[in-house]
Amino acid sequence: MNDMRYIYGPVPSRRLGISLGISPIPKKTCNYSCIYCQLGRTDKMSNNREMFFPVGDILSEFDAVVTQKIAFDVITIVGEGEPTLYLGLGKLIGELQQRCDKPIAVITNGALLYDKQVREDLQKTDIVLPTLDACSKDLFRKINRPYKTLTYEKVLWGLQEFSKDYRGQLWIEIMLVEGYNDDERSLKEYLKMLSTIHYDKLYVNTPVRPPAESRVKAVDHEKMAYAAQYLGGISIDLLVSQGFHSEIKNDYDAVLSIIKRHPMNQFEIEGFLNSRKCKHIDETMTELSKDPRTQSIDYKGFVTYRLR
Ligand code: SF4
Repeated sequence: MNDMRYIYGPVPSRRLGISLGISPIPKKTCNYSCIYCQLGRTDKMSNNREMFFPVGDILSEFDAVVTQKIAFDVITIVGEGEPTLYLGLGKLIGELQQRCDKPIAVITNGALLYDKQVREDLQKTDIVLPTLDACSKDLFRKINRPYKTLTYEKVLWGLQEFSKDYRGQLWIEIMLVEGYNDDERSLKEYLKMLSTIHYDKLYVNTPVRPPAESRVKAVDHEKMAYAAQYLGGISIDLLVSQGFHSEIKNDYDAVLSIIKRHPMNQFEIEGFLNSRKCKHIDETMTELSKDPRTQSIDYKGFVTYRLR
């Protein structure tokens, strides 16, 4: 799994199990710039679907992974940005289905679901996980900071429309941000809005990784539990992911290869090193903190590491 450009992991996902990630878009290309985004502010703001990379190049990497017989539960198309901006998405999904019998999931902000072609592209998947953070125009603007032509009504309509025909599993996620959308009135609005969508699961989340804007605060456990119960969802806050995997022999290089695509906190790195029976965990952590290629951010007692 060295030098992969589009494929990463497998990494553990709290919702999906062991997930083999596919990123079909250039870093931080998105039609939102969410205040809680763990990738920072969006520098390539776009709402145009583009053929960023040839589908064949992504498939060649995928074929190489399959040949190595690496275990994973699900293929997740996710991207460090918004994957539905990839114009080759439908073709990619179709080709992956021909090659592998694992379920295919797409994690999306759902903004482009108003586009008929995007809805058709996603029809072939097994699980679609859209976010739905805002329950009003105002919150949409404040939390998601969308591309200028995207309106709250259009995005909600797209999700409603998609949910009517989609035959796979639709798992919605609401990201609760303290002081923005965690009040009683917002929860009531969410309930109303959710009643207009046919979905299978609802996850309630809160930012646990360093957000784009330092003013963003996570909602506490008690409120998360309350919101999850009120909305009939599942709270996935502050779970530490287990089961990171890398084929790379050297422990340090293995950590670097994961945090290149998937930030990890100190507990996740220690758990990962333990699982590899690494004898130098403390030294590895110190080396990571000093490495100029890495960035460590202390946020609520979780020190998150990622590559610069
Ligand atoms: S939609 Fe996702 S990638 Fe885009 S800004 Fe929001 S959190 Fe970041």
